[in-house]
Amino acid sequence: MAYVINDSCMSCGACEPECPVSCITAGDDQYEIDASACIDCGACANVCPVDAAVME
Ligand code: SF4
Ligand code: SF4
Repeated sequence: MAYVINDSCMSCGACEPECPVSCITAGDDQYEIDASACIDCGACANVCPVDAAVME
């Protein structure tokens, strides 16, 4: 299990500094989560204004 960022992401960047393990990075079209590092804390989902970060 890991969180993923779906197509709703508008690249606002709010989630990136909230991640305790720094596994969120800016991709070409939207932000991305490194699933192998994600600890499922939910911090990104809590700050995302468009609910793009979801548990897969
Ligand atoms: Fe980072 Fe937590 Fe979001 Fe995983 S759920 S990407 S660890 S903020
Ligand atoms: Fe994308 Fe949501 Fe992160 Fe903003 S907070 S960059 S919309 S996933």
